Amino acid sequence: MIAIQGLTKRFGDATVLDAIDLNIERGEIIVVIGPSGTGKSTLLRCVNFLERPNAGRIQVGDLSVDTTRARKKEILELRRRTAFVFQNYALFANKTALENIAEGLIVVNRWSKPKAHARAREILERIGLADKADAYPASMSGGQQQRVGIGRAMAAQAEVILFDEPTSSLDPEWVEEVLGLMKQLAYERQTMLVVTHEMGFARDVADRVLFMDGGRIVEQGPPEELFSKPKDERTRSFLRKIL
Ligand code: ADP
Ligand code: MG
Repeated sequence: MIAIQGLTKRFGDATVLDAIDLNIERGEIIVVIGPSGTGKSTLLRCVNFLERPNAGRIQVGDLSVDTTRARKKEILELRRRTAFVFQNYALFANKTALENIAEGLIVVNRWSKPKAHARAREILERIGLADKADAYPASMSGGQQQRVGIGRAMAAQAEVILFDEPTSSLDPEWVEEVLGLMKQLAYERQTMLVVTHEMGFARDVADRVLFMDGGRIVEQGPPEELFSKPKDERTRSFLRKIL
């Protein structure tokens, strides 16, 4: 369903993504791990065109984008098909939980306000925050804010949700409720590409774990295989540090 070919990103002289190839099946849950500074966020950001790649092709469903010559219309369509959940939630501080979830539906999908708000209420039910519809981010816990961030991605009905370390900014007490919501989505077979250090989550729900180092996918496999029998020394060394 998603095919990434030769995805390359350079910052100055540094090649941060080195011709990444990756296919993702519909309903597949992929966890990306690897040392800091290795290009994990850049991979997700390039797929969503938050960063413009230097080379490569990104196909999502029937949309195929040559990233070097992507036109605005294609970029907007690619963004519509890929939703992003940020480490720091990235909610609008001056909008309520309901408005944060409805905003993209109104601006990107051009829904009417009543229709978008009705959908946002459904989403708030599903993420267990129906009573927070009119609350502003500052009055919510980190866990609640990130659930709104995930709710916003759910509302978009994107083909894939990209999660960039969604629990890394949270106080420990809120991590489980956010992972719980992500697991619920995984059981519903929402296609997801998740950068995380939560190995328990990877073990429980990932179909495949990718280990990245130096802008490349060094090794990949089902979690039970990758964690117990890593083939590459770099994978072994990384796992020794975090498991
Ligand atoms: P990770 O998410 O694996 O920690 P990143 O994708 O954030 O790694 O970063 C990979 C490399 O690219 C790092 O060396 C980082 O400093 C660099 N980098 C990321 N974003 C930028 C940017 N906007 N400008 C310059 N360098 C960047
Ligand atoms: Mg990162």
